[in-house]
Amino acid sequence: MCFAKNQQGPIVVQGAMSVETQHIIDQMTEVREEPFGPFRCARGVLEGHGLVVCETQWGMANASALAALAIARYHPQAIISQGTAGAHDASLSVYDIVLGARTANSSAWQTYYRAAGAGVDYRGLKQLGVFAWDKDRKEFLQEVYHEGSPTLLAAARRAAARYEHGRVVEGTITTCDSWNCEADRIAFLHEFYGSLAEEMEGDAVAQVCQSFDVPFLDVRIISNSILLNQDPWDLGTGPVCQEFVLALLREYWLDVSCIGAL
Ligand code: SAH
Repeated sequence: MCFAKNQQGPIVVQGAMSVETQHIIDQMTEVREEPFGPFRCARGVLEGHGLVVCETQWGMANASALAALAIARYHPQAIISQGTAGAHDASLSVYDIVLGARTANSSAWQTYYRAAGAGVDYRGLKQLGVFAWDKDRKEFLQEVYHEGSPTLLAAARRAAARYEHGRVVEGTITTCDSWNCEADRIAFLHEFYGSLAEEMEGDAVAQVCQSFDVPFLDVRIISNSILLNQDPWDLGTGPVCQEFVLALLREYWLDVSCIGAL
């Protein structure tokens, strides 16, 4: 038998656009709008558990600011960044889901020296990473990769068994305020970071969550793939990703309510 364990704070789920947030809000009860300035933030209850959904708009600065504000206001037990992403791996199809076992900021690099007139080479990079607090070493460390929470990842794996719209894979997701449409550049990023997909928020939130010791997971659905075809962005993927996140949350809540029995 499982015993409910008092977890501090709700779970915070972020999505950039209404098509990436509204489906979860529609499933919640006792919904209260608690905006941060112009940014929508809805707090409510899902099947007895506290849940907060923040609509961040696109990009790293917005998502990380909203994460820091949500941490200060709600003391969340975890934060999930979820929504659409572009494929970096040619085997991924639109509607496949990537679980961010780790994330990386693909704008955090240094070029090698080249003199004036020597031209530019987008492949000639050293990875730099970004600074986040390391609680064991008690200092800010510059790290390329941020690991997803093992507990959230375990819940996501269980939810994956019932996902019917495509495959669910685990790996690296890169984040940058860019949208790459050159197949060769995407092939380079795939090789350089080992990335399966790209988006514009995840690693910025991972960085903030690491510094404030909040468990984090990035969950992304492939909405477009330059490598397969040049299909436009499929916005039907937004609600499907949220449905997967709801399944993940149900698995997670089973886990935390069983902790007392372990
Ligand atoms: N310029 C595009 C839309 C950008 S959408 C267009 O209208 O065609 C950007 C949002 O979608 C961000 O929140 C990002 O996280 C996500 N996203 C989806 N696919 C992406 C991709 N291929 N590259 C970067 N971000 C992507």
